[in-house]
Amino acid sequence: MDQEPKEIIIENLISQLAGLPSIGRKTAQRLAYHLLAQEEGAVQELARALNEAKARIHACSSCGNYTERAVCRICSSDRRQGNLICVVEKPADILAFERSGSYPGVYHVLGGSISPLDGIGPADLNFARLWERSAAGVELILALNTNAEGEATASYIAQKLHGSSVKISRLARGIPVGSELEYVDELTVQRALESRVEVI
Ligand SMILES: [Zn+2]
Repeated sequence: MDQEPKEIIIENLISQLAGLPSIGRKTAQRLAYHLLAQEEGAVQELARALNEAKARIHACSSCGNYTERAVCRICSSDRRQGNLICVVEKPADILAFERSGSYPGVYHVLGGSISPLDGIGPADLNFARLWERSAAGVELILALNTNAEGEATASYIAQKLHGSSVKISRLARGIPVGSELEYVDELTVQRALESRVEVI
């Protein structure tokens, strides 16, 4: 007997959805069937939003956060302390601090962490702009992930700025070891921020 023909298009949709973070195959199937049951206009709107976001959102020229402007809303806000800079690995980490609603400063996105095993060295990350921003009177709060790569990145920054007038602190313990900052709840983030410890 011949094999049953494959449904290539729906299989492709499910695979694409299953490639998203936190989406398992079952959820991907549910989402695909949900989308197929929608009006065509609603699905086009979703596709348009995805395309527009990808085409028009880029890195803020000051901090590296996602923005549709030249400089993001946080960097251009006059209610933010420009000399208090929270250094994070990726734009999604900023959400953890913004959700807490209590952080008065700005951010700097490195774009990852130093990881010799993955071939990622300092030259691959957004350090040049960080050194530019590290002027006198600035405090850097290192909010890097609590894994070996995050630790290596924190040491590199501390070593580079050693002897400068930049104050460096890091989040207090309380962020679970090995956890992704992005998923830590806002109260934990707020406490870790308030009781941050000085590095140099
Ligand atoms: Zn910015």
